[in-house]
This record gives sequence, structure tokens and C-alpha cells, in this order.
Amino acid sequence: MSVEANQETLGFQTEVKQLLDLMVHSLYSNREIFLRELISNASDAEDKLRFEALQDDGLYEKDSDLKIRVEFNKELKTITVLDNGIGMSRDEVIENLGTIAKSGTKQFFEALTGDQTKDSQLIGQFGVGFYSGFVVADEVTVISSKAGEEEAWEWKSDGQGEFSITDAEREGRGTTITLHLKKGEKEFLEHIRIRNIVKRYSDHIAIPVMLVGGGEEGADDKLNEASALWTRPKSEIKADQYTEFYHHVAAAFDTPWTTLHVRAEGKIEYTMLLY
Ligand code: ADP
Ligand code: MG
Repeated sequence: MSVEANQETLGFQTEVKQLLDLMVHSLYSNREIFLRELISNASDAEDKLRFEALQDDGLYEKDSDLKIRVEFNKELKTITVLDNGIGMSRDEVIENLGTIAKSGTKQFFEALTGDQTKDSQLIGQFGVGFYSGFVVADEVTVISSKAGEEEAWEWKSDGQGEFSITDAEREGRGTTITLHLKKGEKEFLEHIRIRNIVKRYSDHIAIPVMLVGGGEEGADDKLNEASALWTRPKSEIKADQYTEFYHHVAAAFDTPWTTLHVRAEGKIEYTMLLY
């Protein structure tokens, strides 16, 4: 550990190093899932905020409009995912982004099949989604500020074994994750590509995912449906979307054997979505 002004450099847990090596090599043909994982984490952070705010609605401060924003910069070759969710304290940043919390790393390594599609599902299942950013990025920067706290922290790493943590500033609570894309990953700097990835994997996310400046006359473009899946007409929902939603809410990663979506209208109205 070295300390330089307010910057501290720390090493990743050994398992994280192994995981990073492995991911970068074994996920290449499914690397677009990094966006699914970052949006899923942002959505979890918004849910946690909403939950904690039930006890203390001061946590919203003046910002109760929960949303996730995606932004890209062609010149800097960066793609950024921002949320105004719960955020992380300094200790949480170090703990959550430097170690693997669940004791499943060994099982994760064993479960890898070599089939990149199956392996990309395992990533969410084993709680290692954040690290998938390093499949496409040679540097990842995270700036986070915990709801109810003033300070912000910047975490930065090239995924080579160490990360640094520094005092930072952030406007309001939440987390900003910026990936500096590797050479050859320019495709993720295209509006249409980003929109398609979000539609494919994150349409079921119930809060809006906005592409900053992606709409008409520089307005933001809403990339997902942002309504609960079960409230939408059956005819508009694809099989993949039912499955992605199931994976997200159930934290399960198998394929449902059957899916039943029923709306009853009469004296009593109800909608049922069963897996
Ligand atoms: P998982 O989401 O399954 O826990 P990840 O590797 O995707 O595993 O994320 C690790 C942890 O990092 C999360 O559990 C969470 O505590 C923290 N984290 C990641 N992204 C965010 C975010 N946008 N806001 C707050 N916490 C986050
Ligand atoms: Mg995750």
C-alpha cells in the first residue's frame, strides 16, 4: 500500500486478479454484456435508495427523479453509466470493487463452460458483473457519493492488479462509472449499438435509462420501456425479454421451463406473471 497526498493504491484480492484475466479472455464474443451488468448495478442502487428512503425520505434531498443515464464521448473514447441511487462510502467502494463478496469464486471458475453465451449468464449469477467492464476497457473510473453523505470518492484501475482511491467531488448522491474503451471497441460509441444492447438486455429495468443527448435537438433519448414488464400487453413482449426479467428479479440464471402471463378483467382485475 502506498499513500500519496490523498491518494491510496490498493491491490485487488487474488481471486479478483484471476477473475479479471479469465473474463477478458473468455467473454470476448459476448463483451456487450458489460452494459447489462452496469445498468443492473445502477438499477439495484436505485432500488436500495428507494428502500432506505422509506425510513428516511431526506435521503432524496431534492432529487427524487430516479433515473440511469448513459453517455458516450467519441473523442475521449469513453462510455459512462450514471445513477442517482444509494452510492457508496469509501469503505464500500474498496470492499465492493476490490474483492468478490460472495464466496463463489472457485465455483464460478468451475462452472465456466467455455460456451461464451452460458458463461456470460454466470457473471451476473456469481456477483462479479462489475468486473466485466474490463473486457472492453483498459481503464475504469468510478466516482461515488453515498446518499446522506457529503464526500465523494474516485476509484480507478486498469484491471492489472491494483486500484487507486482518491477524494473526489460529485454533484449529488449516486455513482458514475466511466469506461475508457480499448482500441477496437469503437462500436460502443454508436447510439444505435447502445440502444440495441439496452433494448435487448435491460428493457425490463423499471426506471428510465436515458441516453444523454441522444434524442431530438440534443434532448435525452429514453432507451428502455421503463414500465413493469407485467403491465405491458403480451403481444409486445418477446421471449428474451421475459427471460431477462426472470433473471433479474429472481436472481436465477436458468431458463424458465414455462412462462404464464395472464390478465383478468372483470369485477376484480389482476395481472399475473408466473415462471
Ligand atoms: P453484484 O451486483 O451481483 O453484487 P457486481 O460485481 O455487479 O456484483 O457489483 C459488486 C458490488 O458493487 C454491488 O453488490 C454493489 O454493492 C457495488 N456496486 C456496483 N455498482 C454500483 C452502483 N452503481 N451503485 C452502488 N453500488 C454499486
Ligand atoms: Mg451486479
